[in-house]
This record gives sequence, C-alpha cells and structure tokens, in this order.
Amino acid sequence: MSEGRAAINQCPPGGAEGIARLAHLTGQPVIGLNPSNGIEGPRQLAVIDENWCIGCTLCIKACPVDCIIGGSKLMHSVIEDQCTGCELCIPACPVDCISLLNITPGSSGWAAWSSEQASASRARYEFRTARLSRDKREQDERLAAKAVAKRQDLAAHSSLHDAQDLARAPQARDESN
Ligand code: SF4
Ligand code: SF4
Repeated sequence: MSEGRAAINQCPPGGAEGIARLAHLTGQPVIGLNPSNGIEGPRQLAVIDENWCIGCTLCIKACPVDCIIGGSKLMHSVIEDQCTGCELCIPACPVDCISLLNITPGSSGWAAWSSEQASASRARYEFRTARLSRDKREQDERLAAKAVAKRQDLAAHSSLHDAQDLARAPQARDESN
C-alpha cells in the first residue's frame, strides 16, 4: 500500500474506519470498501459443537492465532477472547461442527475491534509464524542428520549385503565424489 501497489480498501474487518486510517497514513483519498472481499459487519466468534467434534485437529492447524485448544481424538474448544472471527477454521472442519456467532451486534470495523486487540492478535500470529518456521528448520536438521548417519554406515542400514553392491549404491557413489 505504501508503494501504491495495493489499494487501501481491501479489508472488510477494518471497514470504513480502517480505510480512513489507511488514507491518513498513505496520503491517499478515502474510497469505498471493495465488495469483492466481503462487506463490513460485526465481529464474529467461532464456536465448536463439542458433541460433533471428532478431534481431528485440522482447525488447530488452520487457526492463524493459535486460539483453538484440544488434542488428537479429543474435544476442541475456542479461546473466546482470542478469536478474531477470521473464519479460516470453518472450511478446515470435515464435520462442519464450527459455527460463527455475532458478538458485537450493531458494531463493526474499529468499533468492534480495539487497537489493543489488534496488537495482541498480531503478536500471536507472529509467534505462531516463528514457531512453525522453527519447527520446520528443526525437522529439516533432524532428517539431514539422519541421512548423514545412514550414509556413514550403509552396511548397517541397507538391504544390500554384498560389499561390491554396497560400493555401487547411489549413496556410496555420492559420498565418494
Ligand atoms: S475464526 Fe479464525 S481466529 Fe477464530 S478460531 Fe477460527 S481460525 Fe481461529
Ligand atoms: S476441525 Fe472440526 S472436527 Fe476437527 S478438531 Fe476442529 S472442530 Fe473438531
């Protein structure tokens, strides 16, 4: 937006007040919300029907702010005051047991969502992003170390037993190059 490559009217949750704030920040004129992204409305809360939940954990993986708790094959619940109403958990649920409640009737945009709540949600999103990145890096390192260990002792880890066959194995050829 600051470079003029994206319009300031793309965010239904921010609504008209969000556009006015972005116009002020960027020096651009105030324009109407782009309806192709949705319309401005009250903030919503995701609620899980715990009788239907099969504990698949797919909603946990979909939630960008880590506000769903539960374990594999166990009932899941939403931490109410952390849910942003982003709806990303809805299509993830294979049994359609998540619904949305209007929790700010009559209020939308910044009237339904404070700067403090926005900052807290951003912090949770950034923490989650960092955690996922760390988990992937650690998994990659574990797999790389496992591969190195196996290459260093092919005889113990290969279905080949003949010394000549082992020497011809792709892993052995890679090591010798
Ligand atoms: S609506 Fe968004 S923030 Fe709320 S539980 Fe679902 S994925 Fe998480
Ligand atoms: S995606 Fe649906 S069924 Fe799976 S854990 Fe979440 S709420 Fe339960």
